[in-house]
Amino acid sequence: MDTPLDLAGIGAGPFNLSVAALLHRQALAYRFFDSKASHSWHPGLMLPGAELQTSYLKDLVTPVDPTNPYSFLAYLVAKRRFYDFLNADQPAIGRREFADYLAWVADRLAGLNRLQMGSCVERVMDRDHWFELEMDVAGKSRLVRARNLCVAAGKEPYIPDCARPLLSDHCFHALETALRQPAVQGLRVAVVGGGQTGAELVLNLLDGHWGHPRRVLWISRRENYLPLDETPFTNTWFSPDYVDVFHRLSGARREEIVEAQKLASDGISTTTLKALYRRFYGLVHLEGKGDGIALLPGRELCELSRTGSYELGLYNSLEGAPEHYRADLVILCTGLQETIPHCLEPLRERFLLDGQGRLVLNRAFAADLRGAAGRQVYILGGGRYTHGIAEPQLSLAAWRAARVVNDLVGSSLYDTGQAGGIMQWSMAGEEASAVA
Ligand SMILES: Cc1cc2nc3c(=O)[nH]c(=O)nc-3n(C[C@H](O)[C@H](O)[C@H](O)COP(=O)(O)OP(=O)(O)OC[C@H]3O[C@@H](n4cnc5c(N)ncnc54)[C@H](O)[C@@H]3O)c2cc1C
Repeated sequence: MDTPLDLAGIGAGPFNLSVAALLHRQALAYRFFDSKASHSWHPGLMLPGAELQTSYLKDLVTPVDPTNPYSFLAYLVAKRRFYDFLNADQPAIGRREFADYLAWVADRLAGLNRLQMGSCVERVMDRDHWFELEMDVAGKSRLVRARNLCVAAGKEPYIPDCARPLLSDHCFHALETALRQPAVQGLRVAVVGGGQTGAELVLNLLDGHWGHPRRVLWISRRENYLPLDETPFTNTWFSPDYVDVFHRLSGARREEIVEAQKLASDGISTTTLKALYRRFYGLVHLEGKGDGIALLPGRELCELSRTGSYELGLYNSLEGAPEHYRADLVILCTGLQETIPHCLEPLRERFLLDGQGRLVLNRAFAADLRGAAGRQVYILGGGRYTHGIAEPQLSLAAWRAARVVNDLVGSSLYDTGQAGGIMQWSMAGEEASAVA
């Protein structure tokens, strides 16, 4: 067995790629592992026209290290399309291009032996002075030892209880859609979920991307198809100084805030909403095809059964009454949920958890693991209730990675403070004493 790594990364999605990219100048022994054979970014939802909801400047490195060779601009230059890209003058870039950028970074890191694809970490054991990662590499078992871990293994699809026993080729989570390429010609398709994913799916269904459905039912628990709030003051919730204040609050206060700020991260982008509305307008008023859609906001899916086709039992919250609909295909756009990654199960009993069974993360995104003094388990993307609504988003990925790297090397390699921001979130500390 090799000597222990200083850091092993589990997962190579954008969050851990960012850590790997920021470590590139460090003389540390580190390697990242991902179970996929080759890099891809949510391939099951790579739908035509899907756009990044975040500026491309909030890439893996630029916000903390603009001269880093793994920036989006470096990628454009390497691909020799910098000027063409600028001329396209896009308000939002396509997710396909961002995925290609991520794959470009992953390929370069793999070439330097900093990333190993096709390596699924099955279990992490604690061997007192280091962690031991039990891995499946192309069907063979491998062991890797590391003193510290950085875990960014993504989230799991959320499936409503009533749909769980019925999962099949005709009832599945949206995350699988593009991989399944469902044939919908002549079918009644129910899209369950009124967020960005539901909206993108409805648009693609109406555009005949997988054939022409007889009818599309769009079910949303929210009282309407609500917009993502991307206005400037709301965007300040996605800034380092806000996250630091949020992290200091009590658990109960943080829960309230996450609930109240939902639409800053979970709504539908305005461009998608406008495109949908215009499409519905055309269908109903110009093409006489109003029967082809049923827009059902304020409905919660409570029951699902199958007798030939699916029967959906909904609760109409506007009227407080049950309703029933039939569909031949059900696509669940019901989001993703934070869970403790399976490979950390052997350590679960020793992690400090909050009252809801979630990991408690410190300021540097490290979990509190009893009996592992001096060794860290960083968790990225799993701290919505410790670091706020920016946590599952790309917005602060580079800043968060910089915090992890600083903590790992024990010095301020990257400037992660944002003193002088335009908002005064807190009067704690120096400013408060200056006023007093
Ligand atoms: C369709 C979609 C679009 C999104 N668009 C945006 C956007 O525009 N803007 C924004 O801010 N956010 C967006 N998000 C939210 C968020 O930024 C992404 O989900 C992001 O990919 C999260 O990064 P990650 O690295 O934590 O996880 P993931 O990208 O999910 O990557 C996790 C990786 O870990 C690997 N892995 C898991 N378990 C193991 C294991 N045991 N061993 C080895 N490897 C493992 C997986 O193979 C995977 O490659 C989007 C999310 C989705 C689903």
